[in-house]
Amino acid sequence: MDLRTQKAWFDSTGFEKDYHCDVPMGAFCSPLGTRFNLWAPTARAVRLNLYAEGSGGAAMEQIMLTKGARGLWSYETKRHLDGVYYDYEVTAGGQCRRTSDPWAKACGVNGRRSMVVDLRRTDPEGWSEDRAPELPPENIIWEVHVKDFSFDPASGVRPEYRGKYLAFTEGDTTLDSDGVHPTCLSYLKRLGVTHVQLMPVYDYGSVDEAGDEGQFNWGYDPVHFNIPEGSYATDPYHGEVRIRELKQAVQALHRAGIRVVMDVVYNHTWQLESPLFNVVPWYFYRQRPDGSASNGSGCGSELATERSMCAKFILDSVLYWAEEFHMDGFRFDLMGLIDTGLMTCIREALDQRYGVGEKLVYGEPWAAENNAARPGTRMCNKGSLRDLPLGVGSFSDDIRDAVKGSTMDERSSGFVNGRGIWAPHLAPCIRGWAGEDGWAKAPSQTIAYLSCHDDWTLWDKLIFTLADGKKFRRGTPEVFRANRLAAAFLFSCQGNLFLHAGEEYGRTKDGVKNSYRSAPEINMLDWRRAWRNKKLADYYRGLIALRKQLPALCDKTEQAHRRLLYVADVEYETTGALLDNAGGKWKRLLLIHNVSHDPRHLPLPAGKWQLLVDGENSFRWKKENIHEDFIDVEPMSAMILGEA
Ligand code: CA
Repeated sequence: MDLRTQKAWFDSTGFEKDYHCDVPMGAFCSPLGTRFNLWAPTARAVRLNLYAEGSGGAAMEQIMLTKGARGLWSYETKRHLDGVYYDYEVTAGGQCRRTSDPWAKACGVNGRRSMVVDLRRTDPEGWSEDRAPELPPENIIWEVHVKDFSFDPASGVRPEYRGKYLAFTEGDTTLDSDGVHPTCLSYLKRLGVTHVQLMPVYDYGSVDEAGDEGQFNWGYDPVHFNIPEGSYATDPYHGEVRIRELKQAVQALHRAGIRVVMDVVYNHTWQLESPLFNVVPWYFYRQRPDGSASNGSGCGSELATERSMCAKFILDSVLYWAEEFHMDGFRFDLMGLIDTGLMTCIREALDQRYGVGEKLVYGEPWAAENNAARPGTRMCNKGSLRDLPLGVGSFSDDIRDAVKGSTMDERSSGFVNGRGIWAPHLAPCIRGWAGEDGWAKAPSQTIAYLSCHDDWTLWDKLIFTLADGKKFRRGTPEVFRANRLAAAFLFSCQGNLFLHAGEEYGRTKDGVKNSYRSAPEINMLDWRRAWRNKKLADYYRGLIALRKQLPALCDKTEQAHRRLLYVADVEYETTGALLDNAGGKWKRLLLIHNVSHDPRHLPLPAGKWQLLVDGENSFRWKKENIHEDFIDVEPMSAMILGEA
């Protein structure tokens, strides 16, 4: 069958009717026995090879799988094959391909061979009692890469855990182990974020798990979607270790009162010739009309989420991570390549199993290139968000670019670095782009952020636009002021809040824009810097603590936009916004943003106003500090006042 004909067949309803197979796939092992299930509808023969080790050595046994209905190939035995490694030889389209199992839950080094695992054996002590902390009044997500978190020798993490999952289990680390300045997990507890978003922790291909610690990659190159990455484990050779250690990290975060979101990349694979491809050539991939690989991901491969078994693969995978690893949320990379039907299905399945809104679901509402999905397929982008459930969210590049300028041009600016401000631009930011004129139905669908792992750090962008542009390690007073002002803008927005790890202390990557494979020293969190810039970090910390007390901004309902009572240009480059804070300690909130280089003397609305935040200190709310009639606002600064 040529590629064009095969593509039409895979896209047809007839194929789905004949071959959709709703049984669990992979290898399942319990004391009663072991079962292997593989969906391979185009295969002529499938051979299972069993090995004693994850790499090297010949197969100790070879078994021909039995073909069943709907493309299912299987083998069942009463033997308990826990810890046995395996791969398949799949003959399809006149070619025999040796491959690991795309549905596998464990593997040996670099995923060359899959491993049968009795999952109960991978549970750390106390795992059955592990629970996520209570849902917080606001979701404040902190995005971090496992290696970045603890690679810095000053982190105080023991050397063998640095850059590993287990660094999260070290609960009382301090800067150079000085016993005074918290780092890593203890720093996070103090910061007050509610969620940690882990950059890819599924098995990816760009780092050699048998290689040295100097390697680095963000990991947006999935190989095995249901297996933790091995380079973050203390032992990548034995399949159960990485599973147990990632669970330990989740458990430690939960114990620290922090929920865990997982970055998932269900839009492409590392290479087109992936385990999925090897088992059912082409089925899992979008194809151009001539049958060649579509490239909506910019990575040369693009998963066909609209084909029913690909959708099943992804849904099963999400539910597996939620169930087995207790993940509290999912951040979908290039969600603009995932169809609305599948995302709705994922949202509904999570709500059904865990309760409405218990698991966070959000993603990037864009793609790298045009996709080649089956005609009539709708993708999850800003244009379709209103047709998606309230619990499917989207990153807001609008707020990101409005505050500090475009990510395309280092010199472009926003509110805080020279572009000025105009109330009609600020209003939709405050409403999180929800309401009648926004792309979101409610702020529950908005992820408000200023920076993430992509593009320049907020700090580096400010250096480009406000300082010399070269000296990234040192900031001018103006850069610090602009950073605090940017944070105040972010925390003035309705929606879920998102911080790039270290944004709060002025993280720099020396101006490197795309550090996906830069040295770990460029990428890692610099814990000395975190404490050197304590004042900035404390400013974020105060905003985080205050935010949780402000229903006006935490409101995620479809009515939330009505809480913005008015927003106006009160003076040149100075705006004032009044919000209804019903349900909170203060009746109304007044947000003042002065992006000019001049101080302001502004009239206050009638009433007594408590100063909560100013340009220097975001903990003013801790003291009674009442203003009436007028207020003085510093240049380049924000103010939040609450009506007493
Ligand atoms: Ca890997």
